[in-house]
Amino acid sequence: MNNTHETLKDGVWAALERRNVSRRDFLRFCSVMAGALALPQSYTHKIVKALEQTHRPALVWLEFQDCAGNSESALRSSHPTFADIVLDLLSWNYHETVMAPSGKAAEKSLQDTITQQKGQYLAVVEGSIPMANNGVYCTIGGRSALTIAQEVCSNAYATIAAGTCAAFGGIPAAAGGITGAVGVGQAVPGLRLINLSACPMNGANLAATLVHYLTFKELPATDNLSRPLFAHGDRIHDNCPRRAHYDAGQFVQEWGDEGHRQGWCLYKMGCKGPATNYNCPRIQWNDGTNWPIGVGHGCVGCAQPNFWDTMTPFYSTLPGIGGFGIESTSEEIGLGVIGTVAALSGIHAVGTIIKKQTAKRTAATTTIPVSQNGHVQNETTPPQQDTQQTPNETHD
Ligand code: SF4
Repeated sequence: MNNTHETLKDGVWAALERRNVSRRDFLRFCSVMAGALALPQSYTHKIVKALEQTHRPALVWLEFQDCAGNSESALRSSHPTFADIVLDLLSWNYHETVMAPSGKAAEKSLQDTITQQKGQYLAVVEGSIPMANNGVYCTIGGRSALTIAQEVCSNAYATIAAGTCAAFGGIPAAAGGITGAVGVGQAVPGLRLINLSACPMNGANLAATLVHYLTFKELPATDNLSRPLFAHGDRIHDNCPRRAHYDAGQFVQEWGDEGHRQGWCLYKMGCKGPATNYNCPRIQWNDGTNWPIGVGHGCVGCAQPNFWDTMTPFYSTLPGIGGFGIESTSEEIGLGVIGTVAALSGIHAVGTIIKKQTAKRTAATTTIPVSQNGHVQNETTPPQQDTQQTPNETHD
């Protein structure tokens, strides 16, 4: 963890230099962040300058009903320097899993941040918040998760919900759960909130959110679920490298068949990409090594609210998807459009454009319906009759 007094004065680059991070790695990181934010590479220079000069605000990270998977996603990297840079973007004053202090010393660090940097620090929440029975299902230091979240998040500049549990309740909120689990936005209404849903969230999206805040002095534009548009503005289906096979009616019928070996569409194996808004295809995982669909497994829709109830069974075909070969809207919202507008009008305009295009596309295609409060409504459309070619029919 960083020293608060030291980091208030330092820009990111100064801190990185002390850690012997090379200029080359720093520039590479800034370039990757421009890509993650769907900005033209010309924005890399703006990000570099901002991170060189900006003072780092404090960050506190709360863990409630969670598995720490989002901490892992944020802090683990196959490229150690990348993780170093993420750690130095802000002054991490409190994080139960990785901080050195424990007990009263740790709680003092949290309280000092709340009182001394009120309205300036960022709060990250990982895990859902239990509301049943006065929140007894998750307590830390004798206080309920709800009480802690109310104090910490209400005094923060903004709150970032890391992962689907913190954003929408996630797995603890699935049918049968007894804890009354909800996301932080529902537990503490009225926050300035960014929901980085997915199970876990992609650490690159957290880094991109922080970089956006440090570079443009504002949080990224969001959709109606408070999810940043750079990460959730597009359906996976519209950027999937297997999309041409979907349009051509070429589907994997069973694991290991010829279509699977040829990289055909996984829709009939249960892929939820047509109903999931996330940037997996663009940024991928493990420093861009690969992603689930890339290695031959369908999307499970983990970035969507209530995915554990609405996207299961994971290996059954998603119902209610429009006819094959007619969904050609992805070209209308290509990164070229976004990039051109961004160059002319800046990042806020980018968010506006993505929002408009997404709304247009959503109206034209079928997705899992989601209410304003983040709850997925029951899908009532019956499964479409399968009239497509099988891989064997097409392949032979
Ligand atoms: S159904 Fe899944 S595998 Fe097929 S194109 Fe859509 S996202 Fe890709």
